[in-house]
Amino acid sequence: MSGNYSRVQAIYQITNRETLPPKPSQKLEKIWALDVFTLNKMQESLPKSIFKSVKNTIQSGEPLDTSIADVIAVAMKDWAVSKGALYYAHVFYPLTNATAEKHDGFISIQGDGTAISEFAGKVLVQGEPDASSFPNGGIRSTFEARGYTAWDVTSPAFIMDTDNGATLCIPTVFVSWTGEALDKKTPLLRSNAAMNKAATKVLKLLGEKEVAKVNSSCGAEQEYFLIDANFANIRPDILLSGRTLFGKPSPKGQQFEDHYFGSIPERVQIFMQDVEERLYRLGIPAKTRHNEVAPNQFEIAPFFEAANVATDHQQLIMTILRNTAKKHGFLCLLHEKPFAGVNGSGKHVNWSVGNSTQGNLLDPGDTPHSNIQFLVFCAAVIRGVHKYGSLLRAVVASASNDHRLGANEAPPAIISIYLGTQLEDVFEQISKGDVTGSKPKGIMNLGVDTLPQFPKDPGDRNRTSPFAFTGNRFEFRAVGSGQSVADPLIAMNTILAESLDWIATELEAGIAKGIELNTVIGNLLKSIIDEHGSVVFNGNGYSEQWHKMAVEERGLSNLRTTADALPVFQQDHIIELFEKVGVLSPVELISRYDTYAEQYILSIEVEAKLVVSMAKTSIYPAAIRYLSDLTNTVAGLKEVGIEFETEIPRKIAELTQSMLKTVDELSEVLKKHDFATPEEHMQYCANTIRPLMDDVRTYADALEAEVADDLWPLPSYQEMLFIK
Ligand code: ADP
Ligand code: MG
Repeated sequence: MSGNYSRVQAIYQITNRETLPPKPSQKLEKIWALDVFTLNKMQESLPKSIFKSVKNTIQSGEPLDTSIADVIAVAMKDWAVSKGALYYAHVFYPLTNATAEKHDGFISIQGDGTAISEFAGKVLVQGEPDASSFPNGGIRSTFEARGYTAWDVTSPAFIMDTDNGATLCIPTVFVSWTGEALDKKTPLLRSNAAMNKAATKVLKLLGEKEVAKVNSSCGAEQEYFLIDANFANIRPDILLSGRTLFGKPSPKGQQFEDHYFGSIPERVQIFMQDVEERLYRLGIPAKTRHNEVAPNQFEIAPFFEAANVATDHQQLIMTILRNTAKKHGFLCLLHEKPFAGVNGSGKHVNWSVGNSTQGNLLDPGDTPHSNIQFLVFCAAVIRGVHKYGSLLRAVVASASNDHRLGANEAPPAIISIYLGTQLEDVFEQISKGDVTGSKPKGIMNLGVDTLPQFPKDPGDRNRTSPFAFTGNRFEFRAVGSGQSVADPLIAMNTILAESLDWIATELEAGIAKGIELNTVIGNLLKSIIDEHGSVVFNGNGYSEQWHKMAVEERGLSNLRTTADALPVFQQDHIIELFEKVGVLSPVELISRYDTYAEQYILSIEVEAKLVVSMAKTSIYPAAIRYLSDLTNTVAGLKEVGIEFETEIPRKIAELTQSMLKTVDELSEVLKKHDFATPEEHMQYCANTIRPLMDDVRTYADALEAEVADDLWPLPSYQEMLFIK
């Protein structure tokens, strides 16, 4: 195949494809949680006492009574078998952003050679995948590879129904033989438990008599791109690295802002409905869908749930987006920056904490100045984000998210908090020691009698803040689209637990001195805002002024790249934080650092190798062919006495040579493998390899603008972003 043959083929396939017809829409009530082993289904199939026991574990956090596992296992298996499952899988979340599963059959061979389906409590509760190949950051050497999965009863089991059959999936934690967490679920559960403990202590000190279990909640807005699979299949960069390593911007990109919230293209809407039906069957409350800013970019947001369940569901959402896209002839790109020059994709993690007795603890109500409970919890968040902002930066660090953070489309790498005018004002009053009231909600009067009047939020939105208060929750906006939400949630729960614990100690000390409770609280809030208020910033987070002020005047850190941010995991105060709160031991934390550093290095190396190979084997040949056409023409014309222009061939020759020279440099720097530390290696990736990759791209994209289109092998930006 030569020239643009495969591109033409791809366009032919796309324009002649038949769109999958929409499935007849089903009543929500009919399909909701059909494939989930819900509490209701447990209640129907379990003896009363056993159901009560398991329900207590799920809802109130009572210890799991493993003696009842056999009975639950049989009920779960009978239900799964009735839905066509022959296999079950312990599903776990290793230190990559992926979901892992090990499948086993229900089959048991009897003495007489017959087979029956069997599922015992002990295999429900515990599994032992031979999982030595999962990244573990040195916790296990391959000869000591034992790892265990253990049932997380608080996240419901479900059936994964694919065209290839049904499998009963059981959410589990994944730990080493020595008991260290090898996954993201274990520390998430620990962080939630620690936050619950500290929050309960504070609520009791504030005078609450009855305090139910406090849980963190998460609603994650997922952005993604869809491109036709025919294009993806002939772009090795998209296939292997999830993004375009080359590509001249399309003349039309997102400048008209005509895609954002535009009407959803038919083929995409059919895809979305298919995704939503699958999610509903799995009990995942998909709620919002719309076009995003960039062409072919979309968003899906579920209604929020308990953080642990929301995290498992978020992983399922990513899996289902990818799998369903395939069925519809798309490739779903969850990379943070698939296309240069148009917006990348993030995942806004909305997070709050609350319980069934006090409600949402981050809900300010109409008069936040007098809502002590809210002020204490909000101040705890402010203190935590100020003390541990660099941790929040580190947990969203990845090679792919580096393209987004700080690039004037996503929040900067500086972690600050947006509170909105009303709350900022309340905290200013607290700092001055004279709290008089809260700015009221306005009424929106549109000046047309037939239009409704409605209350206006007391604060506007701020798209430029990485950590914004949005009415009754915080929205962590720096998270990348392809990332697991577990690490951000672990970080937020952990810093809140530490802050609340500190607050509890201060309250106790004040009370012990015989000071009146309200005075103790007032003084405490003032001291927090005076010491940590510098993390609050309501202005434009994209502005250069802020970047200067944040670092020079407020002492906030600006960790621009993953290479700068990941080493935060090794800092003493972060190691102490995780150890003190009981979320990750030093060994577990450092193993995470090692794993994430390695993933960063590997990602950059894979991309760099791809840059070299695509430049040499796709782009260089196209340029040479065109150059040969041009120079033959110039020479031929010269023979008949015509001097033809040589500007373009000269330019192409120069660009081609410069590109090749840079490719050679890049190949050379890729040969270095001896690094003293992961930090050194990461800095080398960020500051030596990455810039050369960018340089190669600059030459290649300039060539794309010159070389005849019928010789260019790679689908262009305009084709991938606009042909549907
Ligand atoms: P926006 O684009 O305005 O941020 P969306 O509707 O796209 O709003 O998403 C908001 C997300 O925040 C949803 O997932 C929603 O369920 C979630 N959310 C709302 N309240 C809470 C809460 N108390 N805790 C966690 N998430 C919440
Ligand atoms: Mg949002």
